Amino acid sequence: MAATAFDALAQASFASSASIVAVNSPSSQPAAAIDRLSDKYTISNTSPSVSTLQANADPFLKIQDAAAASKDLTAVLAASDVLLPAIPHLFKIAAQRSAVVVHVEAKERDASNAGNSSSSKGGVVPSNADLMAVRQTGFAIFTSDNAQTAFDLALVSQAAAVRTSTPFLNVVNGAAQQKVVLDHQKVAPALISEQDLQAHRERQTAVSEISLSSLYLNTKDSAAGPSATAASTEEIYTKVEELLAVLQEQTGRSYRPIEYHGPAHPKTVFVSLAIGSSAVEHAVEHHHHKSIGLVKVHLYRPWSERHFLEALPVSVERVIVYEQAPAAHTAWTPLFLDVSASFHATEGVWKGQVPKIVSARYRGSGASITENDIESALASDKPTFAINPNYVAHAVSHASPLQDSDIDTPYVQMLNQVFQGRLNIENGVKTDSVWGSAQQSPEFGYGSLVTKVASRARFAELVSKTVQDSSIKISEPLRKALTQWHLNRSDSKLAKRHGDEAIALLEAAGKEALVGSLTEILAQSSQFAKPSHWLIGADSWAFDIANSGVHHVISSDADINLLILDTEPYTARAQNPENRKKDIGLYAMNYGSVYVASVAVYSSYSQVLHALIEADQYQGPSIVLAYLPRPEGENVSPITVLKETKLAIDTGYWPLYRWNPKLEEKGEEPFHLDSERIKLDLQQFLERENHLSLIIQQNPSLARTLTQSIESEAQARDAALKKKAKDDFAKLMGGLGGPPVLILFGSDGSNGESLAKRLVKGAKLRNLSARYSAMDDVSIEDLTMEKHVIFVVSTAGQGEFPVNAREFWKSLSATTELGVSETKFAVFGLGDSHYWPREEDAIFYNRPSKELHAKLIELGATPLTDLGLGDDQDADSYETAWAAWEPLLWESLGCKPLEGVVEEPKKSADDGMKVASNYLRGTIAEGLLDDTTGQLRAEADTKLTKFHGIYQQDDRDLREERKKQGLEKAFSFMVRVRVPGGVATPAQWLAMDSISDVTANGTLKLTTRQAFQFHGVLKRNLKKNIQLVNKALLDTLAACGDVNRNIMCNPNPHQSDLHKQVNDFANNLSAHLLPKTSAYREIWLDQKLVKGEAVVDHEPIYGATYLPRKFKIVVAVPPNNDVDVFAHDLGYIAITNKDGSLAGFNVTVGGGMGMTHGNKKTFPRLGDLIGFCTPEQAIETGEKVMTVQRDFGDRMNRKHARMKYTIEDRGIEWFKAELQSRLSFQLQEARPFKFLDNADRYGWTQGQDKLWHYCCYIENGRVKDTPAEPHKTGLREIAKIHQGEFRLTPNQHLIIAKVKESEKARIQEMLEQYKLDKLNYSGAMLNSMACVAFPTCALAMAESERYLPSLVEKFESTLEELGMRDDAVTIRMTGCPNGCARPYVAEIAFVGKAFGAYNVYLGGGHHGERLNKLYKEALTEAEIVAELTPMFRRWASERLDGEHFGDFVIRVGIVKATLSGKTFHDLS
Ligand code: SF4
Repeated sequence: MAATAFDALAQASFASSASIVAVNSPSSQPAAAIDRLSDKYTISNTSPSVSTLQANADPFLKIQDAAAASKDLTAVLAASDVLLPAIPHLFKIAAQRSAVVVHVEAKERDASNAGNSSSSKGGVVPSNADLMAVRQTGFAIFTSDNAQTAFDLALVSQAAAVRTSTPFLNVVNGAAQQKVVLDHQKVAPALISEQDLQAHRERQTAVSEISLSSLYLNTKDSAAGPSATAASTEEIYTKVEELLAVLQEQTGRSYRPIEYHGPAHPKTVFVSLAIGSSAVEHAVEHHHHKSIGLVKVHLYRPWSERHFLEALPVSVERVIVYEQAPAAHTAWTPLFLDVSASFHATEGVWKGQVPKIVSARYRGSGASITENDIESALASDKPTFAINPNYVAHAVSHASPLQDSDIDTPYVQMLNQVFQGRLNIENGVKTDSVWGSAQQSPEFGYGSLVTKVASRARFAELVSKTVQDSSIKISEPLRKALTQWHLNRSDSKLAKRHGDEAIALLEAAGKEALVGSLTEILAQSSQFAKPSHWLIGADSWAFDIANSGVHHVISSDADINLLILDTEPYTARAQNPENRKKDIGLYAMNYGSVYVASVAVYSSYSQVLHALIEADQYQGPSIVLAYLPRPEGENVSPITVLKETKLAIDTGYWPLYRWNPKLEEKGEEPFHLDSERIKLDLQQFLERENHLSLIIQQNPSLARTLTQSIESEAQARDAALKKKAKDDFAKLMGGLGGPPVLILFGSDGSNGESLAKRLVKGAKLRNLSARYSAMDDVSIEDLTMEKHVIFVVSTAGQGEFPVNAREFWKSLSATTELGVSETKFAVFGLGDSHYWPREEDAIFYNRPSKELHAKLIELGATPLTDLGLGDDQDADSYETAWAAWEPLLWESLGCKPLEGVVEEPKKSADDGMKVASNYLRGTIAEGLLDDTTGQLRAEADTKLTKFHGIYQQDDRDLREERKKQGLEKAFSFMVRVRVPGGVATPAQWLAMDSISDVTANGTLKLTTRQAFQFHGVLKRNLKKNIQLVNKALLDTLAACGDVNRNIMCNPNPHQSDLHKQVNDFANNLSAHLLPKTSAYREIWLDQKLVKGEAVVDHEPIYGATYLPRKFKIVVAVPPNNDVDVFAHDLGYIAITNKDGSLAGFNVTVGGGMGMTHGNKKTFPRLGDLIGFCTPEQAIETGEKVMTVQRDFGDRMNRKHARMKYTIEDRGIEWFKAELQSRLSFQLQEARPFKFLDNADRYGWTQGQDKLWHYCCYIENGRVKDTPAEPHKTGLREIAKIHQGEFRLTPNQHLIIAKVKESEKARIQEMLEQYKLDKLNYSGAMLNSMACVAFPTCALAMAESERYLPSLVEKFESTLEELGMRDDAVTIRMTGCPNGCARPYVAEIAFVGKAFGAYNVYLGGGHHGERLNKLYKEALTEAEIVAELTPMFRRWASERLDGEHFGDFVIRVGIVKATLSGKTFHDLS
């Protein structure tokens, strides 16, 4: 009768199965095929149960469970597109040895279909792709080319499944109707007997007694598991051949598992799966006279090399492996590999010459292939060619070949560093042959790797036989070394150790003494070392996971490592979320026996290291998925790559993890999550494998951020809390009369919000109810329900809305209609009319407020008042305009001027906060316990924590993306460690190194003020961080805040005694000025000094309001002014006696760097020299200077609160008199001194005491590991052996101090090893310094630390060309005008004005003795280079002898000299 193949399969299923499951999917309805069977139960020998499952309901989970429970034959009818999601279950069905036969209709499918596991951006996934994807699941696989064969093999596979307890896939192209002889009633009983079924049930019972987890796939390693008893390839072949013989006997229809068609002595043979063989079979018949044959593969899995070779005529000279394959970048297709491996893996079976093997591909089902196609295929001399002309164009569309520029990636550098001589990258990085298209396949190199692995195994066997052979004369030590080596040959270290011993003994024995195999062993001695084998490839491997050779390699069980680079940027991928190429990690984890890691070098160097080492140690295949985004465009900066990496990780798109299945065997958790958020598919995998709950159990705080769904709950909670707060507030206000007022603010700083709060207070005084929020926290529709809305909005960047108002404005500006005719509004803007002084930029001034005001009018809302424009340039800043605007606002709301009510006098909000804080406690302790958020919610706490050395920050690289996702900002904390004088012991260095790894972002920042800084400390790690710092006998108290900060001191490696004296003084002064509050120990160290609530603190120097602003002290030792003594509130300049001992200190007061762009009321200032004091008087001097500032500093305006303004306003003479009145001694006249520079001295220097000191160059003070410069590791290793000190320099570098002569060579060796000896930088680079800025500093307007080196590099070639490469030029950069890197005393300074734009200042003194002057504003990189390059040329040709750049630009009139802070802004 005529039937489709699928109908025939349905018939066969009824013939011998106990149950039948039809899996319906969008592409196929097998249940309908069952329904079409009119005589289904009459033809059945078994009366099977029939059920239908839907493809989207994880049907194979149910099938797996049902098959295990029933122990009888289950037949499944399904289309091939359901196989991929079923992979985990297929593994388990195979492991539990169920008699399941899945009859599969091969379907091409549309990759863009939602819900399926598509492999590319639309397009067609060929029918065989799904089959290839499951070829290693442990199922045996039959393929057929017509309905009759499918029917016959269905009966055979069902019988074979029972007889071997092995599940089968029986695959066929199913659509066309064909004539089929349905003689199952006769055949089926002859194939399966009741005894066969009984034997199968017994095997099943044995299997089910072993837990499923032990079954999980790692078949070759678990000898005790049932897999040890799984049917072997030979067993399956034997049974299948027996059954085919029965079939032939019953029906006359004859098949072989692998069969040959064609002449007896062909020269060319096609090899094809039966499923695609029709066209070529036809062609073979046609070409018969030309000696062409076909090997048709029915039984594809298990693959039997022997049977294949036996089927292949020995006369063959060329084998064409003919396969359906979807992508051109998959160089070698699965069958090709099987065929190729057969000739190498099976010694003695193949009797002929190894033929030339080529790969031919076709597209689609192959039905459209013509004889001409085959003719041209035969004529092709290429190793890989496409049969369909259209094929290549189709395939290349989503190929993403690895580029040359990827080859020398940081990952390859790391591999080289970690494995050094042991490293073997088989696909030959940096060789010409590697990166052509064919060699991008993982299989390239795989063959030779397998050969190398086998060759070492044979060597091991040779060694083993030799030591056991008593006829060979062998010394006892050599026997022991060889035995030990053999035992430990898989352990790289021990293999090397015992191998080296054996080689030494073999060589010592002399050639003449070595006999037989010992000579061979010596000849092959390179085999002793255990190589680390790697294949490196691109993400294109992961596109067609079904067909790429990745799983061929990982399923091989060979000890081989794959490093797969993924170069697609997050921002590009986010546009194509359905792309599933990242599934390669999950796919490999499903194999169970593969080590898998997902890493990103721009996120965590140490995690990459861990993964590489673990992969190498893992006995079996390993995959390391390595992220290295390559954004589009030329000259992409490292910052862009860094940001892409961070986004990918923070969103969970590229989770960092390590999966080591061997740990599970030891009872340990195999999955280690190294980042916080994961994608849903990974979450599902972990949930299914019961790992998610374990991970959360081990680290409960992860639960909130781990997954999107969990995150949503937290957001909901967060939203509920916010709502409650709003409701409470509304309730409170409910008691008030008058029209309700909604106050909305948009502001990147705090001014907008504090004005909004002032309005709320004002409303309350006027009996109005009012509430306020950020503009983005309301929707524009809310405006339609409000009667009175008041906006306070500041100006960001180039006239943009602030971050917390952007979404609101986006919606509002796009709206043309909004029901606000009943709404009245008022807008007050905050801006700076001189911020962008160019005429054409005047439009930026207060643009947001102007646009908002106009738009609201356009929409029909009614203004209550004119637009208010606050200007930083006004006499009282924005307060000037506010004072005029606010009364008009109240009046417009119908409020009469307040009578009898005195508005609260202006007072320092921060002083109130300090007093209320109970000596710096606030509610910090409570805030730390709130695990619903990553921040400290209370604003006061974020200020108070500064006194404890802690800044709350958020990652600004992630702000926009997280906002889009509705997440709170990526909050973390910066923790600054106080290191008076910048001196730490090696033990303290080790502690800081470890703390940065355990609680922070893995890097350590050496600051411009000789402190350690940790970045990226999460709230949950904050307390631990501080406790560990204290454990190392350092602390963070007063590292920030309105107190005296870390005291800096010249690290002075030359004058040993003097350094000790000045450093001791710095320490003593620091201790003297330390706040005395017990809050620090109470909150962070759990040391409550007084029981109960009765804690009474006292601040003898500071009082309860501490200082008006921060206070900075430094100690300089001439002739080096590295601390920039004039740039700080208080400076000490060490004066020595003739014998070099400390005579005392000159004292400077009133220096400071911070200012606001364009605001002439703020300016940097250099300190005034006011006298001299003896060492004994120095502490008292410090205390009294500070108390003058405490008592007279401006507490109302923080922008005017530094001591420089106190002195500037009252005069230096007043200050001296006030100070003198407080001192118990008379300050002396300042003594002479001379500074020569403010730089560090790099390299080795020797002190008076003959000890050595090495100053390393640490780029911008960031101690980190990079593949090229593993500085952090190097310093850690040095700290482990170093017995002297580590001295942090004021320029953010590091001195390894007090090295004994006897240790110098060893330290030098380590410096070289870890690239810390690199000092051949240009003078400009060596004298450059940048603040942190992005991504953590909230005030940054532009990049700094991450950008300065690349900018300086742009000048280096010019300086080199001018012969001035080594000339020192002080260059400093900051991300905002606050001046943390002391830019205003630099010869060249770049101060961030907006993203990518810097104000350029020139003419600072070479040793910090003169302020610089604004040269040009808001220059881009190109403009900076264009401006400075000719200036350098001029300096080279016109400079006076030894003239520094800063002096030169003043002499030739490029800028005017700045002679005082007050004239800093004067340009003429
Ligand atoms: S100078 Fe500005 S941007 Fe740089 S770290 Fe200081 S406050 Fe942040």
